[in-house]
Amino acid sequence: MFKKVCIIGCGLIGSSIARGIKKNKLARKVVSSNRSNKTNKKVIKLKIVDEASSDTKKIVEGSDLIIISSPLSSYKNIILKIKSYIKNGAILTDVGSVKKNTISLIKKNIPKDISWISSHPIAGTEDSGPESGFSQLFKNKWCILTPSKQSNNKDVKLLKKFWRKLGSRVDVMDEKKHDYILSITSHMPHLIAYNIVNTALKIKKKKDRNIVKYSAGGLRDFTRIAASNPIMWRDIFIQNGENTLKMIDRFIENLIDLKKSIKSKNGKKLEKTFRKTKKIRKEIIEAGQDISKPDFGRK
Ligand code: NAP
Repeated sequence: MFKKVCIIGCGLIGSSIARGIKKNKLARKVVSSNRSNKTNKKVIKLKIVDEASSDTKKIVEGSDLIIISSPLSSYKNIILKIKSYIKNGAILTDVGSVKKNTISLIKKNIPKDISWISSHPIAGTEDSGPESGFSQLFKNKWCILTPSKQSNNKDVKLLKKFWRKLGSRVDVMDEKKHDYILSITSHMPHLIAYNIVNTALKIKKKKDRNIVKYSAGGLRDFTRIAASNPIMWRDIFIQNGENTLKMIDRFIENLIDLKKSIKSKNGKKLEKTFRKTKKIRKEIIEAGQDISKPDFGRK
């Protein structure tokens, strides 16, 4: 499919892509550039890529597909570094969780003869780094493509095929819609998890030391989400602040509503709400986005 694919940032997502490329034979050569020599050595030792170096300019040269999969806050430096070293006609994509900033950054900096098509695989775990990646990460998960005026139609088709070969289902969305939808499906649930765990932490510090001991159930599931990569989530909330703030307001409105029902002992209303939310779980399982086993199927 490609002669040379370059992955900038070979952590959880980047290394899962590299593993998928190797497994499905989607490129003759896979190379990677990471900030630290430690990670570059690791991805070679683990045989995830064929070549790795922190010299991003050099490693990008001659690549037909370049995938930026580093934290959002590193994009600007990377783009400025590589912009003169990308091969004419190459496809440039990223896997970032927020689109608006990236798209305007690329618009300003990337030459016209580069096919720029943003990607977002909606797949991940709470782990980070190359050791935690696996080739099946994208299986049956959605990958959203956001083509630009600078994307060649033929390349959009090729990139769709690439993600499908990695196991993804592919959809196309503009950046505004993407950032809005993801703010409720992904960003708010993380914010709520961070906040509930932080609240429990403060209570634990002040008086109740049994919070960790008795956390089986609700709090424990939240701690899984709240253990996600702190740098990645810092960047997401800063770059998608506008949508997240709107969602926080909606969330507070609904929370006040629930509070009122509890205060007035309105069991009927509480039950009606909980029955509605239970249905969503069923729909998610029917859509193949999760399995019906308790505990997220963990052993
Ligand atoms: P990760 O596991 O922490 O990996 C990040 C990688 O980027 C590391 O290999 C790191 O190398 C490298 N890196 C950091 N700064 C760099 C720089 N300036 N130049 C080159 N490489 C650099 O992170 P991740 O979870 O894969 O997330 C990466 C991207 O995927 C983020 O933009 C995130 O929004 C997006 N994403 C994440 C998920 C998820 O659930 N994790 C899902 C969808 C999309 P060093 O070790 O050398 O620093």
